Amino acid sequence: MHDVVIIGSGCAGLTAAIYAARANLKPLVIDGHEPGGQLTLTTLVENFPGFPEGILGPELIENMRKQALKFGAEFRAGAVSEVHLGRRPFTVVAGKEKYEAKSLIIAAGASARLLGLDSERLLMGHGVSTCATCDGYFFRGKEIAVVGGGDTAMEEAIFLTRYASRVHLIHRRKEFRASKIMTERAVANEKIQFVTPAVVEEILAPTKGLVEGVRLRNPDTNEMAELALEGVFVAIGHNPNTAVFRGKLEMDPNGYLISLNGSKTTVPGVYVAGDVQDHRYRQAVTAAGSGCMAAMDAEKFLEEHKD
Ligand code: NAP
Repeated sequence: MHDVVIIGSGCAGLTAAIYAARANLKPLVIDGHEPGGQLTLTTLVENFPGFPEGILGPELIENMRKQALKFGAEFRAGAVSEVHLGRRPFTVVAGKEKYEAKSLIIAAGASARLLGLDSERLLMGHGVSTCATCDGYFFRGKEIAVVGGGDTAMEEAIFLTRYASRVHLIHRRKEFRASKIMTERAVANEKIQFVTPAVVEEILAPTKGLVEGVRLRNPDTNEMAELALEGVFVAIGHNPNTAVFRGKLEMDPNGYLISLNGSKTTVPGVYVAGDVQDHRYRQAVTAAGSGCMAAMDAEKFLEEHKD
């Protein structure tokens, strides 16, 4: 029986682990299918307070993990396949293991949707990014592309014009899913050039292991074209990792868990933190902050339910 089980080992889960461990709760962290979360997919993080020279995403995560271990957190590999939240103690199943928990912190994160190209995976952090706020600064004066046709793509394209010399907005259809107002703003921005309909077939890095362009296919004519670029921002949405909580916890229409009054959920003793409940800010520092809140809420709950 564990006082606190934390599902997820990204920035939110690890911060919750540090706080819960320092409160002597010996939290158990279940790593999840993407140990370390989205920060492990980035290179330099320049906006996490306390690192004036920046810090590599994987290094930041490794430091947090060490910090949690130092205070007594335990870690188990594996992805959660089942949870039972109907009564306490809660039960969490991951692989062949079953864990019982007096309180539960869900920090399972969200995964950026990817195009599914090998080149995209290989060049992640080397010109390919899924976060304009995180990486836009590295593309000052450069020509780049944003892929997607939703509000995120429009927002990121507009944001990136602060840095880039030109932003190509590549979308597979001529129509946009984005709201009218966001689309109009992007259209009005003279640094944004629309490339539609176009499917990214390959991200090109022929010489230096850095992005040098994209190969595009027009889905109407199958005509191929190449576009020289130094960066590609994939902005085709995120998927919160919440499938196992369906029907057990409240979710918004996009599948994000709903947090009430801080990190609480409708089930007393179950708390949420990080991107699994946040499609708006999605920053390492906000995830860390919400992890801290969840651990403090869990600690208070355990204190109040000692018997
Ligand atoms: P989204 O609305 O689901 O849009 C995803 C876009 O990516 C769509 O245009 C889709 O194309 C495209 N796409 C999906 N899979 C693709 C693939 N494999 N290859 C190429 N293109 C692909 O996601 P989102 O833009 O992240 O927005 C999510 C939610 O947050 C929305 O409700 C949105 O309104 C909201 N949001 C609001 C704001 C704001 O109001 N400021 C900002 C950001 C997000 P198709 O259209 O062809 O399917």
